[in-house]
Amino acid sequence: MPELPDVAVFRNYCHQHILDRKIARVTARNNRVMKSSPATLRKHLEGRVFIQTGRHGKYLFLVTDTRELVLHFGMTGSVRYMEDPEDIEHAPLILDFDDGTRVAFICVRKLGKVLLIEDREKFIEKNKLGPDAYEIDKALFQKAVEKGGSIKSRLMNQKKLAGIGNIYSDEILYQSGIHPEKKEVTEQEIDTLFTSMQRIFEVCIRHKADPDEFPSRYLTKRREQGQPCGICDGRISKEKISGRSSYFCSRHQK
Ligand SMILES: [Zn+2]
Repeated sequence: MPELPDVAVFRNYCHQHILDRKIARVTARNNRVMKSSPATLRKHLEGRVFIQTGRHGKYLFLVTDTRELVLHFGMTGSVRYMEDPEDIEHAPLILDFDDGTRVAFICVRKLGKVLLIEDREKFIEKNKLGPDAYEIDKALFQKAVEKGGSIKSRLMNQKKLAGIGNIYSDEILYQSGIHPEKKEVTEQEIDTLFTSMQRIFEVCIRHKADPDEFPSRYLTKRREQGQPCGICDGRISKEKISGRSSYFCSRHQK
């Protein structure tokens, strides 16, 4: 499932490819991904250009002068820009630009969201999203994760901290040496989590959120029970924690 670094990469990709191109045609499929009607999307997007991009947690914002197109990627969503337009199956939204190029929002499992909004702050408030995990400062991070269930579930709670899901919560805890089920966390451990989180986002976004490109010690490259740990002599364990398949090293994560 696309998490903060993946969405940051989609954002950079959109920023690079689709800004300042005039939208000539909107093709929207009316399925459950579509939270604004195809007619609304056509009315507010055709003839306009995206002038800016934004991201909050796992949400991507493509901004025109009057509205913002919001994309949420669900389990498998992605965006694809094409200089030579192709038909894309499972694309709930296709935007054709007047220069003959096209961008498609692809969502095979239909768990994503597409909608138009006027006000991003209101959208964030209405969806009860916490501060963005990459923008947050240390004091607010401390507040966001100091209370709650297991430390893993706190990191993944979008209402407290937006952007982290199953994969990156495991990675942050692994690199911080903290067991995902731990409940009592010290201020120093929260400091370590904050530092690891920032470094992991920076490294992963730089490597286009592609695990094949991550440093070899990263857990994301070894999410399999019994794999050697990349940090100590232990082995990777798998357990259901907060209802999610979680990977960790019981040797160095205390
Ligand atoms: Zn280990």
